[in-house]
Amino acid sequence: MPDDSHEARLKAYEGLPATVAGLAKDPVNAPMIRHWCEALGDTNPAYTGPDPIAPPTMLQVWTMGGLSGHPPRTDAYEQLLALLDESGCTAVVATDSEQEYVRPLRLGERVTFDSVIESVSPRKSTKLGAGHFVTTRTELRVQSGELVGTHRFRILKYAPPQRLPDRPRPVINRDNSPFWEGVRSHRLLLQRCTACTALRFPWLPGCADCGSPDWDTLEASGEGTVYSYVVMHHPPFPAFDPPYAVALVELAEGVRLVSNVIGVPCDKVRIGMPVTLEFRAYDDELTLPVFRPQESAGGPA
Ligand code: ZN
Repeated sequence: MPDDSHEARLKAYEGLPATVAGLAKDPVNAPMIRHWCEALGDTNPAYTGPDPIAPPTMLQVWTMGGLSGHPPRTDAYEQLLALLDESGCTAVVATDSEQEYVRPLRLGERVTFDSVIESVSPRKSTKLGAGHFVTTRTELRVQSGELVGTHRFRILKYAPPQRLPDRPRPVINRDNSPFWEGVRSHRLLLQRCTACTALRFPWLPGCADCGSPDWDTLEASGEGTVYSYVVMHHPPFPAFDPPYAVALVELAEGVRLVSNVIGVPCDKVRIGMPVTLEFRAYDDELTLPVFRPQESAGGPA
């Protein structure tokens, strides 16, 4: 547990340099300005023509290292980051960016920059985890030494939570909300066209067979077979613990849905395997339909 002396050690880095005598890799130039304006859809005529200025919001662009690497950090900044890593704050996220523009940059000017560790916050609890906000303040100059802008940049160095994060939530909208209400009450509801009786899954605003928007529901019996499956190993997603089987289950009613097969090692899942519906609560808010092989019904998860 971090104590007061840890916080005092972090605090001691305030005011120390983070970057010294950084030099923009490229002078201010028309191609980079044009790409920026095209990406953002900015058609301001000040950024084109014979004597354009760079968009002020490009300020940070001139200090960025790109794939060939950033200017070296000072020992002080490296030590601060290492100290945070050692205390368990190994994850990082950028949280704030604040810029002041003193005067526009023109073609051919080369930016130099220095930054300082402006502040290190006490340990804070955040939704991502507990950690410290580290704010650096960069002064950007042209080579004559004239200040053209400042950039304050804040990161959160935090301790990532040990448990798996929550699963992603389903996107619930007006077309599918009755399906998810059904899941909450442990009923797998299929949409049935009242004009032609075709079943539809996933839920849609109209019938793919006859185009009718009218529907009622049919509760699935819960019996099905594995129509196809994959075993996920890579890439890992934060809320999931690979390897696991993702199956396309064909319900006895004839429609198919993507779900997990549980209660069996993922390398034992087979096409044609009979499975039975179950509802699994993944956290306080999220219940999902999953399938268990029939021979292992009632067995371990
Ligand atoms: Zn229909």
